[in-house]
Amino acid sequence: MIVDVHSHFWSKADDLDAMVEEDLRRAGGTAQAIDNLDIVPERHAAGTSGADRVIVFGLRAKNVGMHVDNDRVAGLVAADPGRLIGFMSADPLFDHDPVGEIKRCHLELGMRGIKLGPTYQGVPPDHPRLMEIYAYAERQRLPIIVHQGTTFSLAAPLKYANPILLEDIAYRFPQLVIVIAHMGHPWLGECVSLIRKQPHVYADISALHYRPYQFYQALKMAEEYGADHKLLFGSDYPFTTVAQTAAAILGMNTYAGTHGLPPIAPRVLEGLVNRESLPLLNLA
Ligand SMILES: [Zn+2]
Repeated sequence: MIVDVHSHFWSKADDLDAMVEEDLRRAGGTAQAIDNLDIVPERHAAGTSGADRVIVFGLRAKNVGMHVDNDRVAGLVAADPGRLIGFMSADPLFDHDPVGEIKRCHLELGMRGIKLGPTYQGVPPDHPRLMEIYAYAERQRLPIIVHQGTTFSLAAPLKYANPILLEDIAYRFPQLVIVIAHMGHPWLGECVSLIRKQPHVYADISALHYRPYQFYQALKMAEEYGADHKLLFGSDYPFTTVAQTAAAILGMNTYAGTHGLPPIAPRVLEGLVNRESLPLLNLA
């Protein structure tokens, strides 16, 4: 079974300010990438079709022009509830009552996890309003996916983006399940050291494969530290697809061989693609 723990859903007209497209163009985004700013349910289904279960979310981060409606995400999930798992988001600065929005989405919409991005949201990961969300999530056993790592958004301060900042959160909320998105790229060493020792902190490998040398280093580092079992499969659809991501992982040793690099243990690569992530995230 393939579980995609990281896919997006948004409507360009309703959920994104013009800033998002401007930032993407400045970062060299292709026409395809710009086109990806408009997702309809059929496109989401096609891009994630290689996965048996798919976590999907919006992001609420007005600081970078994203204010995805949680109800829209819940509507997508309601159309395919056997396959899709909806995560909610709240904006610590621009939502009137962020923890109230999380409770509403959890209790009324049945959403089962939380997506946050402190750097996108313009706050440090230990911002008081995020701490309230972590406390609720820990009590309710809701997993949190946190975008730590760099980004194309100009307004997102990188000083809040290093994954090592999540260690204080893990100490403060020891039962909270945290997934570091994109292995916190480019801070791979910080990410691997954190997931290696914090029992409930994981990382997803989404959106890394199209920088193949970095992705190779990330997987090799996780293998050498014995932390590869803490890596979860994710696509970051629409920026790439489930099929492209799985093919890149399983083809990693072809890349290594071509470039004179030592191979990655096949069990690491196959284990990653087939990771049973849902029980790890309290979502079994
Ligand atoms: Zn993402």
